[in-house]
Amino acid sequence: MLQPGTLARLAPMSSDSPPSVAEVLLPLALAGAYSYSVPQDMALREGSYVRVPLGPREATGVVWGFNGGGGVDDAKLRDVSEVFETPPMPELQRRFIDWVAHYTMSPPGSVLRMCVRVPEALGREKGRTGYRRSGPEPERMTPQRMRVLAEAHAEIARSTADLAEAAGVSGGVVKGLVEAGTLSAEPLPAFKPFRVPDPGAPSVRLSRSQERAAKALRGAVAARNFSVSLLDGVTGSGKTEVYLEAVAACVASGRQALVLLPEIALTVQFLRRFEARFGAPPAEWHSAVRPRERERVWRAVARGSALIVVGARSALFLPFADLGLIVVDEEHESAYKQEDGVAYHARDMAVVYGSLGDFPVMLASATPALETMNNVQAGRYAHVTLADRHGSAGLPEIRAVDMRKHPPASGTWLSEPLADAMTQTLGDGGQVLLYLNRRGYAPLTLCRACGHRFACPDCDAWLVEHRFRRQLTCHHCGYSLPVPKACPQCEAEDKLVACGPGVERLAAEVAERYPDARAVILSSDLTRGATLRDLLREIAEGEFDIIIGTQLVAKGHHFPDLTLVGVVDGDIGLGNGDLRAAERTYQVLCQVAGRAGRGEKAGLALIQTYQPEHALITALAAHDRDGFYAHEMAAREHAALPPFGRLAGLVLSGASQDGVEDAARRLARQAPRAETVRVLGPAPAPIAFVRGRYRMRFLLKATRSADLQAYLRTWLEPHKLPSSVRLQIDIDPYSFM
Ligand code: ADP
Ligand code: ZN
Repeated sequence: MLQPGTLARLAPMSSDSPPSVAEVLLPLALAGAYSYSVPQDMALREGSYVRVPLGPREATGVVWGFNGGGGVDDAKLRDVSEVFETPPMPELQRRFIDWVAHYTMSPPGSVLRMCVRVPEALGREKGRTGYRRSGPEPERMTPQRMRVLAEAHAEIARSTADLAEAAGVSGGVVKGLVEAGTLSAEPLPAFKPFRVPDPGAPSVRLSRSQERAAKALRGAVAARNFSVSLLDGVTGSGKTEVYLEAVAACVASGRQALVLLPEIALTVQFLRRFEARFGAPPAEWHSAVRPRERERVWRAVARGSALIVVGARSALFLPFADLGLIVVDEEHESAYKQEDGVAYHARDMAVVYGSLGDFPVMLASATPALETMNNVQAGRYAHVTLADRHGSAGLPEIRAVDMRKHPPASGTWLSEPLADAMTQTLGDGGQVLLYLNRRGYAPLTLCRACGHRFACPDCDAWLVEHRFRRQLTCHHCGYSLPVPKACPQCEAEDKLVACGPGVERLAAEVAERYPDARAVILSSDLTRGATLRDLLREIAEGEFDIIIGTQLVAKGHHFPDLTLVGVVDGDIGLGNGDLRAAERTYQVLCQVAGRAGRGEKAGLALIQTYQPEHALITALAAHDRDGFYAHEMAAREHAALPPFGRLAGLVLSGASQDGVEDAARRLARQAPRAETVRVLGPAPAPIAFVRGRYRMRFLLKATRSADLQAYLRTWLEPHKLPSSVRLQIDIDPYSFM
């Protein structure tokens, strides 16, 4: 049986005796680090990556500290088997891991797991072999061999794959030439080094107000200590150009900079701007990066030779050797919140990282999170503003279309005012964006004969029709079935009707109304990764006239010809029990509307709504963000909700409904009394049945100063849940389902 060891904060060791016991943290959901003895001849440091025996197998871990002796019976410990040559994990990253684990109430090993996602990067670099021309022509010459020889240099060696691709032949042809003695082998470095970014040459001339903002951010970098700045400017005001100046200042001082973006905003277009600014591409880190490139990035970040990393939230867990700045672009995006496993918010953890490492953090947004605005108002964050759109582009005009006055015909979704505006825009050669945040064809299918509704057998959800795939699909668990011809309940044929709109159905309406327009659907189930990147580029280049999209299109893209935005349903999301529903709707509508008129021509956004008098809609139309925020802020303060109070969500789930309900009731009875924390529930979660598991939920409401984590530890640690019931803890939850 392995002994959980103590964490690293032990007495410093005397320098004369090498440490005999290492505390090794493993990337597993275990309580803490485990103790191992250090073989005499092995040089270990805190942070060293090591292999250790774990039961019948071996595992990779990180030395979290040393135990100078005492307490542990050395004789029973097993030896560390191997230490990797990789630079040890920096002390700052180890403190960050402990902090995140403590805050999110996750085992530190689960946080460590997010940091060692590229196991290949720990071993020795596997060098490649290159080939150069060194011998006479082969006796048997073929056109393919000729093409290879035309590509092979005498001075520079190239890899088989590289040569074969350049010559358009198979690797076998290259091998043949090696055997014939025409090419000779020599070792190549394993990975191409990252080009050093040049902070010197700005690619644009900043306007006066941009220069003022850039100066403030450069100042924060030069101070070399912890600060948080909010870069607050309308869409298109040049926030990216401005924070790139802070990145430049950081790189000029020789330190690494990390720019976080929501995954979806990491487009080729965006990355090109970095390359234009710095004369070299940044290191990229997101789900579309291939394994070999991941290894290259991980190693270069650990060595400190990749100076700029642009990535999605998981880039926060790369092994930065000397991080000097984190920028969180579109900081209000809920994509920064990870829901599964370690439930963390990358923006908040970036701020923590900055405070632990004493470096500046910059948040950029046109519609900051209320939490961030509150920190600005309290003076905790600096407020750096950009008032106008860059150049001649003004903000788009935003108008509500009252759907009570302009109801579309049954089975259609575009009102006359929106359809007329589309006709006019298309006539003028402009692009139109229609926003509808619903994937598929229709959110509900029912039988007209008997009223049967198609629901998921494993979740509390209707099945969504996806007409392209001819399937009914559950958006929670992925369950799908082919669209049947007959109703499974009453067996009536051809009586199934689609209810409500999805982007596919909207596309059908568009095709009917505008048969000559080139339309495209952007939705996560239809377009992913590379295809999506290509489509976004083609849209920016004007290859499409009408873009029909879900959330995917709302974020950060710059389409110069886009002049009209139509929000098909401006009411979705107002009041679904989520405390941030209004804030999010405002943010997303503002972002979507902000796609219009970013180029030369003025933009117009039309919002179809049944509640045109709603405070949110009137504030949008008046471009009165601060007025809307003040209204929201007052409501939150009144209800003591974040940022004026703290929340935590607890979800118990299991296959047996009785089992889960019983476990939840027992747990509820153990809840300690506290002045500052209220436990609400247990109650069935709003979606009470997902993937065949029943879910009961507690919501904890606490004052701002309450130590929620300490409360939860006191409550949960002594309590033993049945093994069939799983508990998920979410500190600062963003999802209330
Ligand atoms: P934001 O991030 O605030 O939405 P961007 O930084 O993306 O704004 O800028 C919007 C557009 O304006 C981009 O195409 C950008 O290159 C351009 N732009 C911004 N500032 C300047 C400038 N000073 N000179 C030239 N182009 C600029
Ligand atoms: Zn389901």
